Amino acid sequence: MKGKMTEWPGGMNIFSGGTRNEINLSRPWQREMIIDPNTCPLENIPQTVIAEYKDGLEKWRVIKTTNTPYPFHLLIIPERCWGKEKLQTLGGFLEVRTALAILEDILREYRKDGTIILGVHVGYAAGQNTGHLHWHIIELPQKNPDDVTEKKIRKCAKNPSLLILDDRAISVVAGGQRGGQCFFVPKGTENTLHGLALNLVEIIHMYNDKFMSTEGLPPEYMVGLKFRKRGFMYGFYIPILNHLGFPEYFSLLGEEPRSITLPWPHEKTVAHLKGAGR
Ligand SMILES: [Zn+2]
Repeated sequence: MKGKMTEWPGGMNIFSGGTRNEINLSRPWQREMIIDPNTCPLENIPQTVIAEYKDGLEKWRVIKTTNTPYPFHLLIIPERCWGKEKLQTLGGFLEVRTALAILEDILREYRKDGTIILGVHVGYAAGQNTGHLHWHIIELPQKNPDDVTEKKIRKCAKNPSLLILDDRAISVVAGGQRGGQCFFVPKGTENTLHGLALNLVEIIHMYNDKFMSTEGLPPEYMVGLKFRKRGFMYGFYIPILNHLGFPEYFSLLGEEPRSITLPWPHEKTVAHLKGAGR
């Protein structure tokens, strides 16, 4: 049996299936994050603070990052390092909602009409170098942005076999270039950020449970959310369940068949998340 080739936005095909069909929960390469407030650069090196907030439980800061190629790049951080369990859930609903509210405030103040991506990395393999939670706010240099990517994601997201969660505000659908990846697709504008926070936290809990490794660690992951003119366009959650291999890098250089091979089909991710047990 041969694999299936499908198209997602970005010009790369997604190749999956064939004899490569089973969920693999073994991640011997994964390492636990070391979190140490005593050596944390975000607490021990003076930062340029743009704004400060308090949400009842937590003090938050918006700071300028000193290490970036982007002209507009800020970090949203809690005042102190969190423990690894709290980090793994981004603090749960309240703290995710707070981070999104801070983003809204920053956009209102500094970037009313820009194209902004908000994102976070959790775990070394997901790209997190400092154990202190930090959400990135980055402005994309899009002078005349169009909606091509968002439209394609909406089209792909209509496939019912990819649906993971669905409420009044947001649909969550499996898809994209990485095994286990899923997208957050907004339905309208009402309570979108509230719904986004709810669905994001729900997805994180589902994956932490269902994709716990055989070595006993919940998945490392990244979250990316796109905003334009302060409205939420779409977002993704990417768990780090496997790595790109050398054929993928040939494809990224433009070699045929221009495809990324998934460790298992997206439909398998959906069935695994919805199924009983691990
Ligand atoms: Zn810290």
